[in-house]
Amino acid sequence: MKKLISAVVPCYNEEESLPYFYEEICKVAKDMDYVNFEFLFINDGSKDRTLDILRDLASKDKRVRYVSFSRNFGKEAGMYAGLKEAKGDFICIMDADLQDPPTLLPEMYDAIVKEGYDSAATRRVSRKGEPPIRSFFARLFYRLINKISKADIVDGARDFRLMSRQMVDAIVGMAEYNRFSKGIFGWVGFNTKWIAFHNVERVAGETKWSFWKLFKYSIEGIVAFSTFPLSLSFIFGILFCILGIIFIVVRTLIWGDATSGWPSLVCIMFLISGVQLCCLGIMGEYLSKTYLETKKRPIYIIKETEKDIK
Ligand code: UDP
Ligand code: MG
Repeated sequence: MKKLISAVVPCYNEEESLPYFYEEICKVAKDMDYVNFEFLFINDGSKDRTLDILRDLASKDKRVRYVSFSRNFGKEAGMYAGLKEAKGDFICIMDADLQDPPTLLPEMYDAIVKEGYDSAATRRVSRKGEPPIRSFFARLFYRLINKISKADIVDGARDFRLMSRQMVDAIVGMAEYNRFSKGIFGWVGFNTKWIAFHNVERVAGETKWSFWKLFKYSIEGIVAFSTFPLSLSFIFGILFCILGIIFIVVRTLIWGDATSGWPSLVCIMFLISGVQLCCLGIMGEYLSKTYLETKKRPIYIIKETEKDIK
């Protein structure tokens, strides 16, 4: 019997790219006639005609399924919903803007079926068409998070990957509220083959990620996969104690007790209180995540699916 591949596609205001995407994925599905396909679109509270297009596609093509959220829950929630709802033996996550070329699918499928990997993931080897400052911070982030966590995140890794049912079940089992999929994929383990490709610019529409959004997302990644920042305050504390004692003792021994030195005193006070506030901030970040996690709120809310129209 033919195996089933589910293509999970999170969409947020993608009315312009969806027709191109559908055309492209259909071509690939035709070439890969040795497997069956299911296209599972996640409408993440789009404000444009995305949902209308999805309804239309679903009524014409029985391979098309969709899940529509009650509001915008973010791409992470979209991917989680997709993995949870997908029925395939193999599941692939891909963007709607064709930045994840569907033409790589046959190679990814072979990596799992013929070469025995559990997942085939993709990474960009170039960041053509991206602002240099964004690339710089992205590199910095990858270096940092790999140093301080077990998540094993590859620089330039996309969310575009094909996974076995077993791996997807493991990921769906991680129902944490603060999701950082790039870390989760690495954390669950399994053998992954990395396929490199050159960056492709989006086919239509605009990116949904501002620099600020990406920055917040990177903090999310660090907080979700590393507790190292929490130990920073301890390290700072010890360091300052030693520094303080040496400073006071050595200074007094050499120069005696001087009433001068008021500026340096104020500087030190500012420095130390600054560090204390920083540490409090770090604690607050973890506390807020714990708080949200304990509420056990749903990761997404479904308003409509293709079953409502079929
Ligand atoms: N996306 C989503 N919800 C959001 C933001 C984005 O489902 O809140 C989807 C979007 O429709 C696209 C994918 O996530 O299919 C990647 O988004 P985008 O292309 O804007 O990101 P970039 O490729 O620029 O990193
Ligand atoms: Mg994109």
